[in-house]
Amino acid sequence: MDIRGFPTSLPEFQRVFPDDAACARYLESIRWPNGFTCQKCGVAGEPYRFATRSSVVLRCRICKANTSLTAGTVMQSSHTPLSTWFWGAYLMTTQVPGQSAVQFQRQLALSRYETAFQILHKLRAGMVRPERDAIGGEHPVEVDECLIGGETRGEGRGTHHKSIVVGAVEVRSRADDGKKHARRVYAGRLRLRVVPDRSADALTGFVKDNVAIGATVRTDGWTGYPELHANGYHHDALTLGGDPDKAEAHLPMIHLVFSNLKTWIKGTHHSRIEHKHLQAYLNEYVFRFNRRFYPMTAFHSVLGIAAHSVPPTYAQLYSGEWTHAA
Ligand SMILES: [Zn+2]
Repeated sequence: MDIRGFPTSLPEFQRVFPDDAACARYLESIRWPNGFTCQKCGVAGEPYRFATRSSVVLRCRICKANTSLTAGTVMQSSHTPLSTWFWGAYLMTTQVPGQSAVQFQRQLALSRYETAFQILHKLRAGMVRPERDAIGGEHPVEVDECLIGGETRGEGRGTHHKSIVVGAVEVRSRADDGKKHARRVYAGRLRLRVVPDRSADALTGFVKDNVAIGATVRTDGWTGYPELHANGYHHDALTLGGDPDKAEAHLPMIHLVFSNLKTWIKGTHHSRIEHKHLQAYLNEYVFRFNRRFYPMTAFHSVLGIAAHSVPPTYAQLYSGEWTHAA
C-alpha cells in the first residue's frame, strides 16, 4: 500500500476486497457516506438488505421502496459478481499495458470470452469521457506527431494504413525536495488525437483545443504550427528541422510517450487496431496515463461510481470496514 491510499498490488487488493459482500459494503459507503437515505421518502435509517440475481437491493423500512446498489453504475443489471467487476476495474486501471479481452478473460477466470469482452467494453466507456480542461498553463508543453499502425496487407481493405497521431504533454519540474531523482522533469498531463493530415488546420486546431492560451509550446518546426504565436502561445520551435538528434533533445517527453504508446499497441493489441477505433484506444491510454498517480480516482471512474464518490479514508480502506457515521 502507499500514501495514496489505494492497493498497489494484487494481494493487497484481495485483502481489501476479499468477496462480493466487501464490494457491496464499499459501494454502499461510497453512495451513502453518512448512511442510507431513502430516495423516495427521504427518511434516513438502516434499510433491509437482500441480494437479487443482479444486485444488492436496499429496502426502506418506512415506505418499502427498493434501491439497487448498482443503479447508475456500469454494474447495473449485470449478472457478473461485484468482485469480478472490482477485479476488472483494478486490472484495467493499474496494469500498465492495459488488457486485451483474451488476457482479461484468463486473469478473471471467466468461462466466456463474451463476458470478458462486455466487462472490458463497459469499463472502457468510463475512460472515454472527453477531458475538457486545457493542459499547459504554467507548464511548458511538447507537441509532436507520430505514425501509428500500418503494415499494409494489400490494398482494397483500407484498414491497415498508418494513422497520424498528434500529441501534447506537459513537462513538469520536480519540486526541490532535497532527494535525488533520476530526472529533474517528469511528464504531466497528456492529450492525443488522430488527425487526417499534417495541415496547420489539423495541428494548430489540436493545440487550440487542448493547450491553455499563453502556454509555451515546443514543436520541432514551424510547418504545421505557423499560427501558434498569433493565437497567443509562446512558440518554442526547433528551427533546424530534420536533425533527429536535435529533435530528440528538444522534445524528449513526447517522443517517450509515442514510443511507449507504440509498444502498447504492438504488444497488447498486436497492432490490430482499425483506424476507426484508434481514437478510443488513444483515449484509454490517455486516461490511464493522466491518472497514474491517482489510481483510486481511475478505479471509481471506470466503475461509474465517481459521480457520488466520497473516497474512503486510508484506515477505512484497509480495515475493510466501511461503516457509516451514526
Ligand atoms: Zn422510504
